[in-house]
Amino acid sequence: MITQRQMFLNHVAQTSDAPLALEIEKGKGIYLYDKEGKSYIDLIAGISVSSLGHSHPQIVDAIQKQTNQYLHTLVYGEFILSPQVQLANLLQKHLPDNLNCTYFVNSGTEATEGALKLAKRYTGRPKIISCKKAYHGSTNGSLSLMSESFFTAPFRPLLPEIHHIEFNNIEDLQAIDEHTACVIMETVRAEIGVMRPSNDYLKKVRERCTEVGALLILDEIQVGCGRTGTLFAFEQYGIVPDILLLAKAFGGGMPLGAFISSKEIMDSLTNNPFLGHITTFGGHPVCCAAGLASLKILTEQKDIVEQVFEKEALFRKMLQHEAILDVRSAGLLMAVQLSSFDQVLGVIHECLKNGLITDWFLFNAEAVRIAPPLTITEDEIIKACSILTAAIDKVCENENGK
Ligand code: PMP
Repeated sequence: MITQRQMFLNHVAQTSDAPLALEIEKGKGIYLYDKEGKSYIDLIAGISVSSLGHSHPQIVDAIQKQTNQYLHTLVYGEFILSPQVQLANLLQKHLPDNLNCTYFVNSGTEATEGALKLAKRYTGRPKIISCKKAYHGSTNGSLSLMSESFFTAPFRPLLPEIHHIEFNNIEDLQAIDEHTACVIMETVRAEIGVMRPSNDYLKKVRERCTEVGALLILDEIQVGCGRTGTLFAFEQYGIVPDILLLAKAFGGGMPLGAFISSKEIMDSLTNNPFLGHITTFGGHPVCCAAGLASLKILTEQKDIVEQVFEKEALFRKMLQHEAILDVRSAGLLMAVQLSSFDQVLGVIHECLKNGLITDWFLFNAEAVRIAPPLTITEDEIIKACSILTAAIDKVCENENGK
């Protein structure tokens, strides 16, 4: 009889020729369980999604309640749907005044696409500035923001008028000019292997955008919703974007994204042309119910976000090993720098054997990714780090025995 694994390989589209192919039966808290009942500490939370752990009871309850009410009704923006309205309202309470209007979408890349369109429409300008080695999604527009021709060349032609600058380089900010519709960057960069903005870099970016009338889009798809120790990462850098992007953890485990701006800017999507951006499923009521439950937990049970820095410090203390060249972190998003991709792959597979799920980064394959549910406890951090450092030991031993 054909196994589920074989059917997966034959009939589910693959993105690499070496999928981890773990057959998941159940998820609870920081753990995933496979078909044999083996448990795995999920140290990457579905790439920064399950920030409150898998199947958080309050989120599951909100989803179940909403499924009893209604699922899909009509395309986005036509009906008044309580989960959408309540979520948009709670968001604006926790955001600066100019981020008071939310456009809901289904994913991170759609948030990027919507924001790019909004910036072009509002400013009437063609040019877009992105950073080298940035990742903002995989659809055509978002892909065009990538500087790496390895990933983009086979998909040309891409969007025109995209200019790439070096993150943290002040001189490069001169590329932002009167033709620029927007600058898009992550507040803290994830896929490069965790890079924070240095000193007052983001302030300088903000100043330059304001000076020339370009909109600043901050992508917090990966670093928002508490991951870096504040509800939104930009709070730590003394600036406010014109457009904020959320997705991943925002939906509490359900597909939900958003681009958020001022009512004034957002209104430019309602005319010339009207229906300037439309979506059938964006802001699906069940996803918004999950997102609302998740945001309520994050904003009411304040210790979850407040404890992020302590937990980060504990990880850093526990991650001691001579093969670790560097640990870069922004709250509970961390990169453990090793010396080679082979080492990282070895560690990932050794960890998997010992019940721990980790990963590498798109633009830094020599670093191990740590982005656990924010709810991970101190004991669980200690356990996870001991599995990780034992795996590094094992990989080094194997290397030395070569
Ligand atoms: N922006 C950033 C910073 C991301 O990390 C990701 C996903 N890794 C995206 C955008 C795209 O999100 P999605 O996969 O939901 O389209």
